[in-house]
Amino acid sequence: MKHMTVKVRLTVCLTLLMGLLAALLLGFMLSISSSVTLQAAMTQLEQAVRSELSYVSVEDGSLVLDDGFTFYSGGVYILVYSQSEALLAGQVPVSFTTSEPFENGEIRVSGDYLVLDLWVASGWDDGVWLRGLMQVPEQGQTAQNLLRMAALALPAFLLLTILGCYWITRRSFRPLDRIIAAASAINDSRDLAARIELPPGRDEFTRLAGAFNEMLERLEASFETEKRFTSDVSHELRTPVSVIKGACEYAEKYDETPEDRQETITMIHRQADKMSALIEQMLQMTRLEQGMELASLTACDLGELTQSVCSEQPYGADRLLVSVQPGLTAQADPALLGRLLQNLIENGFRYGKPDGHVWVTLARQDSEICLSVRDDGIGIPQEQQEAVWTRFYQADPSRGSGGAGLGLAMVRQIAQAHGGYMTLESVPEVGSVFTLHLPDAS
Ligand code: ADP
Repeated sequence: MKHMTVKVRLTVCLTLLMGLLAALLLGFMLSISSSVTLQAAMTQLEQAVRSELSYVSVEDGSLVLDDGFTFYSGGVYILVYSQSEALLAGQVPVSFTTSEPFENGEIRVSGDYLVLDLWVASGWDDGVWLRGLMQVPEQGQTAQNLLRMAALALPAFLLLTILGCYWITRRSFRPLDRIIAAASAINDSRDLAARIELPPGRDEFTRLAGAFNEMLERLEASFETEKRFTSDVSHELRTPVSVIKGACEYAEKYDETPEDRQETITMIHRQADKMSALIEQMLQMTRLEQGMELASLTACDLGELTQSVCSEQPYGADRLLVSVQPGLTAQADPALLGRLLQNLIENGFRYGKPDGHVWVTLARQDSEICLSVRDDGIGIPQEQQEAVWTRFYQADPSRGSGGAGLGLAMVRQIAQAHGGYMTLESVPEVGSVFTLHLPDAS
């Protein structure tokens, strides 16, 4: 059974079941036909014996049989016995060998015979027994006919069942064959962008194909993320690695004094720090893209979160000014929102004037909750405002922020993961306002 296909297994099971049902039905019909035959024989016996009653009488203690009396008719033997059970008239068939006690009006089976006795009374205490004997009918013709029919019909019926079951299962499993073929084609071509065509309807196969497609979508997304991560990492790490290699080669050839060596070590250290910050940031982004960190969305008091993040900043309350409308909540991941706010505040100071300020404001506006971070820094020219959200974009790398141009890309991703979006207003040399817009659930 294990090595058979599901189609063959189903066909075998259904055929066995149908065969069993047909056998049961045949047995049932045979038993009904036997009881019907027996019943008919009993009726015939009773009618035959009762029809003789009117021809039998006892006069002055002697048995009188009228002319119409018959001893044998239609397979029924009629016998007359005295009160003391001595045979007065008729002939006991040779094959009736049992001695059956008399019992008035009850048909019984005795040996191979059906027996019916009727008491023919004469006065108070005289009378004779009229006994009818008839051979128990054999299963005979009806059963034989039935068995003959079954012998012909059953194989044909089973053959039809096998063909029918196989045809139905083949038809029903056709969408599955198509799903298997599509999945194998995807596997062979390694084309994760391909999808399985959904069979019409809403049965298990459609759901299976849908689940397959969803799985392919996730696989494709995670494969893409991984590909992008690998290419980003190799691209971004190339510069610091070549700086470190160059510094090492230079140091081997020319660094003679401890001061020279110390300078090279410091430079290598700086590049290594940059690389490690870059890798950490990229890992965070990748995890975010794969939705790993979004498992913990909870009802979050945004005012409390804003105050807490701002209080951890090292800039002092005279430079970082916070204004919070209390009672605003949202379904959020506090760690991610904290990271978003921290990023914006750090950028505000990093790209600000030496003694610049940053204003953090949380307030409800129309049907949104807005968390904005404003600075009075260098601002961003209009034509660069869209580009700052893309990965690795740095408007002015010469400012040496120490970042990798990933901060705002991550900010935008966190906003989207919370069902929100980011806006930017900026005027060069005046300042910038970055605003997170979240849907107001309250
Ligand atoms: P990073 O700060 O690591 O370079 P970000 O993604 O945070 O990366 O920022 C991308 C670029 O956008 C920065 O290089 C900078 O040029 C510009 N930028 C970000 N925030 C501000 C700001 N508050 N004021 C002016 N420019 C900014």
